[in-house]
Amino acid sequence: MNTVPTLAHWIDGRRHPGHGDRTQPVTNPATGAVTARVVLAQPADVDAAVRAAAAAWPAWADTPPIRRARVLFRFLELLHRHHDELARAITAEHGKVLADARGEVTRGIEIVEFACGIAQLLKGDYTEQVSSGIDNWTVRQPLGVVAGITPFNFPAMVPMWMFPLALACGNTFVLKPSPLDPTPSLLLAELLREAGLPDGVFNVVQGDKDAVEALLHHPDVAALSFVGSTAVARQLYATGAAQGKRVQALGGAKNHMVVLPDADLEQAVDALIGAAFGSAGERCMAISVAVLVGEVADRILPALVQRTRALKVRQGLDPQAEMGPIVTAAARQRIADLIELGVREGAQLLVDGRRFDPAEAGAGCEGGFWLGGTLLDHVQPHMTVWREEIFGPVLSCVRVPTLDDAVALIHQHPYANGVACFTRDGHTAREFARRIQVGMVGINIPIPVPMAWHGFGGWKASLFGDLHVYGEEAVRFYTRQKSVMQRWPQSTPQGASFVMPTAH
Ligand code: NAD
Repeated sequence: MNTVPTLAHWIDGRRHPGHGDRTQPVTNPATGAVTARVVLAQPADVDAAVRAAAAAWPAWADTPPIRRARVLFRFLELLHRHHDELARAITAEHGKVLADARGEVTRGIEIVEFACGIAQLLKGDYTEQVSSGIDNWTVRQPLGVVAGITPFNFPAMVPMWMFPLALACGNTFVLKPSPLDPTPSLLLAELLREAGLPDGVFNVVQGDKDAVEALLHHPDVAALSFVGSTAVARQLYATGAAQGKRVQALGGAKNHMVVLPDADLEQAVDALIGAAFGSAGERCMAISVAVLVGEVADRILPALVQRTRALKVRQGLDPQAEMGPIVTAAARQRIADLIELGVREGAQLLVDGRRFDPAEAGAGCEGGFWLGGTLLDHVQPHMTVWREEIFGPVLSCVRVPTLDDAVALIHQHPYANGVACFTRDGHTAREFARRIQVGMVGINIPIPVPMAWHGFGGWKASLFGDLHVYGEEAVRFYTRQKSVMQRWPQSTPQGASFVMPTAH
């Protein structure tokens, strides 16, 4: 029997084997080969990580922000040096193509760059002389131990949406990554240690929902950031809030791209193909619905069909690859079943990704979890393929007569993460961006993932909580405000006052 490495936790600045013996396989989705086993944390492991983080907190919170930033500057340098190693680890366990994995690391690096400016971001407000001889100021102070629970689809970037700012603000952190791709989290932990982060400030517990439950109920966890599916996000938000924890929980998505008749259709086709099939559609900002207005459908569909058929679906290390495998066999089956349901419910199957032959993906890929791109036309709002998040390489086309109908369709959907509108008309674009009830909007940009200093978050069932991840919103999430009012009276006694203090 082949032995594979066991991946476990990172607690108090070192690898930690954990207390129990529950594990699950880590698989290379391109080949189906088991490459490691990941330990699933017991409550005792979570407790050990939280205790290490709690013990490290007072000294870290007291470290001047500029010195915390210096650790992040060194971390940034190490991320650049290990960029390729991180990207390869992502491709090996997630399956996405290497260039895309490199892009994921770059988007994470940008958050670290932003977090390096923490000294400026934490500056408070000050009002002199709010009353005679009295000044009032506000500061933002860290919360304590905060936790991050992250999905499989961005095993490096989504943790980096959270911990750089959490740490910069003076918190200590426990990360619970997806057990499907655990390696990047451990690489990040090693780089943080090499950057000089004190032991216990950043910890990783591998695991499944048991680890999440333990974090959620741990009395020493002050706040949780979650990114994953909506059912879990909703539940986690409610339970965490009921216990007085601060929670931000980002959920699922169904992102529409409206194509208007005046759009540059060549650009629109490029955008749809890249945004629907990049990362095999396993992105919360993937475009999964093309909303084709007026006569656009007839003009655009021949090119969409041709381009979907021509997708280079290969194992992720192949430099030609445009799309890699699906993350697990179960996810592949779920997506295939949804395609079948779409057909049964009346959608027209223009390209069937289930017919993809894994042998085309590269040598050794026969046992991998493969699907080609799928294109469905005449999708309607009552169909499961429109209502549910498929999270796979399936583009559903909905035909509508007018822009108003497109907007009404989008507003009907419970998810409201991202949306795009392709047009050449500036006024239409501006009105669309202003009126649409969705958190992130792209005008002639299919995947409008905001830059590090703007913050990321959807609306409605795509985010529970009111603060977005990263950007200045994250500084607010990971700190709480304290107001200080101060007087240094002259030594002549004033006598007690029994009336509400007012300015005089
Ligand atoms: P998931 O909800 O299955 O898992 C997310 C995290 O929660 C993982 O760490 C997992 O171990 C844990 N988890 C799973 N089931 C749980 C349960 N019952 N109780 C407690 N914890 C549980 O999501 P996933 O499949 O890893 O990721 C895909 C989902 O994430 C999609 O719905 C996608 O849209 C969403 N996502 C959203 C964003 C966003 O920014 N809104 C970004 C990336 C991914």
